[in-house]
Amino acid sequence: MQMNQRDVIYLDNAATTQVRPEVVDAMIEYLSKDYANPSGIYAASASAKAAVDAAREKIAVAIGATYGNEIYFTGSGTESINWAIKSTAQAAKGRGRHIITTAVEHHAVLHTCQFLEKNGFDVTYLPVDEYGMISVDKLEAAIRPDTILVTVMMANNEVGTIMPIAKIGAVLAEINTKRDKDAKILFHTDAIQAVGHIPVDVNALGVDLLSVSAHKLYGPKGVGALYVRRGIKLPAFIHGGGQERGRRAGTENVAGIVGFGAATQLACAEMAEEALRHTQMRDDLIGKILASVPHSHLNGHPISRLPGNINITFEFIEGEGMLLLLDARGIAASSGSACTSGSLDPSHVLLAMGLSHELAHGSLRLSFGRYTTTEDLDKLMEALPPIVERLRNMSPLWEDFLKPI
Ligand SMILES: *Cc1c(COP(=O)(O)O)cnc(C)c1O
Repeated sequence: MQMNQRDVIYLDNAATTQVRPEVVDAMIEYLSKDYANPSGIYAASASAKAAVDAAREKIAVAIGATYGNEIYFTGSGTESINWAIKSTAQAAKGRGRHIITTAVEHHAVLHTCQFLEKNGFDVTYLPVDEYGMISVDKLEAAIRPDTILVTVMMANNEVGTIMPIAKIGAVLAEINTKRDKDAKILFHTDAIQAVGHIPVDVNALGVDLLSVSAHKLYGPKGVGALYVRRGIKLPAFIHGGGQERGRRAGTENVAGIVGFGAATQLACAEMAEEALRHTQMRDDLIGKILASVPHSHLNGHPISRLPGNINITFEFIEGEGMLLLLDARGIAASSGSACTSGSLDPSHVLLAMGLSHELAHGSLRLSFGRYTTTEDLDKLMEALPPIVERLRNMSPLWEDFLKPI
């Protein structure tokens, strides 16, 4: 049975994805039958504990981790990020207080860094170019003797730009050879848009800490993971019982974790095929939109880009109006990240890329998933150009633009 999102054409997979039926099936078992607490000493507990550890192995394999016990389950991708950054800062107190990140991170990273700034840490927010790409040279130049952490996202959730994580890892490895064992700069990446969508290998990337979230790869919401390279003494973030080897307390979300493991394994098995399909649909749709709607521009990198991400600015209109009219046609999309679309602030990512407030407001994000079909995109193409035209006809900016000088 293929579940349908109430017949909606769902083009907001970067915000969240549908839990795939195989994953639901795998989870139900651990909600209704093997529901025991994994910490018990009876047989049902052993089964739940084994299921958690099997999921841990699946996540480890998916990101090329050497050991299953380098994976710690968390209550979300956001928690994984908070833990990585805050606990690294805490462990380094007295030794260093400088953190390097980018201006285009998810708010889970940015707001955590701003919190640390209020608590005595110094944060460098690296700028990006017009494609949302950072410069590795600028990152290297920003490193100071008191730098303790570099955190750079692997792929941007709004514009899809894929960052040069392996290059940064190599630069940091070289710098770390000249540092004391206890003064090494740690490297964290928010790989939440990447895992299950593009290849991720913690050893090839040279990262020490990596964050993943289940609901961006057809798993359930409310479960994530932090990869912690063996040998790194990251202090615990959630205190309580001894779960997750004493580093993340709280009775395990067994069903969620089982679903996360199953979803990750399936996404990775299908990744090459899906990435190719999405890339072809993406480039085809970008071409069609730019050709049929005048004064429209692609945001994000043309090549180093997530297979399923399109972000386009339509001059002279407001993204919000576009979303409402698309919604009326049964099409779900986004005008930025889910966190900012509720507010009137233009996307910090588009502003960092040099777009004016006006242009940032006129942006539309379309993100594909495994259930997206070419028929969906054909329907979008029927709806979108007239919607843009209608909004422009109501726009004073467009009227001004059309006036003869
Ligand atoms: C969704 C997302 C997050 C937050 O993950 P949650 O599991 O929703 O807390 C963080 N970073 C990026 C890039 C994301 O896309």
